[in-house]
Amino acid sequence: MMDWTLLLVLVAAVAAGWLLGRQENKRSKDTPLPSLDMLAGGQSDTMQAILDMAQREEAVELQLNLGTFYRRRGELDKAVSIHQSLFARPDLDKDLAGQVQFALASDYLQSGLFDRAERLLLDLLKTHQNMKSKVLDKLVVLYEEEQDWESILSLASEVKNFKNIKSVAYACCELADQSIKKHEWREAQSYIDRALKIDSKCIWALILEAKVHEEQGLPNKMVASLKEALQYDPAQLHVILPNLKETFESRHRPHELEQILEELWIESPMPLSLHSYAEHLAKYESLDEAISQLTYSIAKVPTIEGFRLLLKQLIAKGEPLPLADMQHLKDILDQLGRGEDHYFCKQCGLETDQHHWRCPSCKQWETMVPKLATLNMAPTKPRKTHEF
Ligand SMILES: [Zn+2]
Repeated sequence: MMDWTLLLVLVAAVAAGWLLGRQENKRSKDTPLPSLDMLAGGQSDTMQAILDMAQREEAVELQLNLGTFYRRRGELDKAVSIHQSLFARPDLDKDLAGQVQFALASDYLQSGLFDRAERLLLDLLKTHQNMKSKVLDKLVVLYEEEQDWESILSLASEVKNFKNIKSVAYACCELADQSIKKHEWREAQSYIDRALKIDSKCIWALILEAKVHEEQGLPNKMVASLKEALQYDPAQLHVILPNLKETFESRHRPHELEQILEELWIESPMPLSLHSYAEHLAKYESLDEAISQLTYSIAKVPTIEGFRLLLKQLIAKGEPLPLADMQHLKDILDQLGRGEDHYFCKQCGLETDQHHWRCPSCKQWETMVPKLATLNMAPTKPRKTHEF
C-alpha cells in the first residue's frame, strides 16, 4: 500500500518547487509539474493543496491537468468548469490554447455534448496542424458515438493520409448494413467494395458481401466470402456458421460443411469450432465420435454450450452412463457456476451478453469474440492424422 502522507508531501513539494521556480525564473519552461498520475494518487488533502496552488493565475498547465484529472474521474462538471475558464482567457499562447480547446472538447464529448465537441475539434483541425492526428482520432470517436457514419467517410475523403482505416471500413459496413436492410443492393455493394478496398481483411464487410451474393442467388460466391472471413478470424464463426449451415443444408451438401468445420477446428482448436464440428458430426456422422471429442474438450475448457451438447448426445445414444462419467459431468457443471456473459473484448476484457462489432468500452472495432472462441486450450485429438 502507498503511504498517503508521504505522497501528499511529495506532490506538494513538486508543485511548490514548480511555483517557486516559476517565480524566480518565469521563462523556465521545463520545470516539472505534478503529473496526472500523481494527481490520480492524491487524497482529498493533497487535492486541496494542489487546488490552492492552481488558483494562481500563472498555473495554467496545472489547471489544465487538474481539469483532465477530474474528467478521468468522471467529475465532468468540474472538468468543464476548469477548462471553460481557461478557454476564455485571451492571454494563452497558441500551443497552450490548443491544448485547452482539445481538453474542453474531450470534456464535452464525454458529457454527450457532441455538437459543442465537434465545433471545437473542427476548429482545431483548421488552426492547429500540429494536433491534427489526435484531433482526428477524437473526431472519429465522436462520430462513432453519434453513429454518424457519413461524417467519418467525408472526413476520410477530405483529410490526406487519414490513419483510422478500420473506422472508415466499419463506417462503410454500417452503411452497407443499412442499405441491405432497405434492400438497396447496389448501394450495399458499393459500400462493401469501399470497405474491402480500405481493409481487405474486414470481416464484417465479407459477411455483408456474402449476404448480397446470397440475395443475388450466387451460393458459391457467398461461401467463398464466408470462408475468407473465417480464414482471417476463426472466432467469428458464431456469426458465420448460421449462414453456412443454411446454404449447405438447403443444397443437401452437409459433407462440404463438415470439411470446412474440421479444417477450422484443426487450425483453430477452440471450443467454438469444436462444438460446431461435434454437433455437425452427431447430426450427419457417428454419435460416438462426437461424444468422444466433446468429453475430451469440455473437460479442458468447460462451457455451458459444450455441456448441453454433450448431454444431448449422451441422451441420443440411449445408454445408461457409467458412474465415473456422471462424476465427470458433475465436475464440469461445478466449474460452470461462474460468469454467464457470452462475449468478451480481446482488447480491454469487457464482458457482454451480446455481440458488438465495436467494443462499447475501449471503442475498438472487431475485438469482441465469444468466450467459446478462446484459443488457449490444448489441441484436441484429431479424428484423422493432420499436420499442425
Ligand atoms: Zn474493449
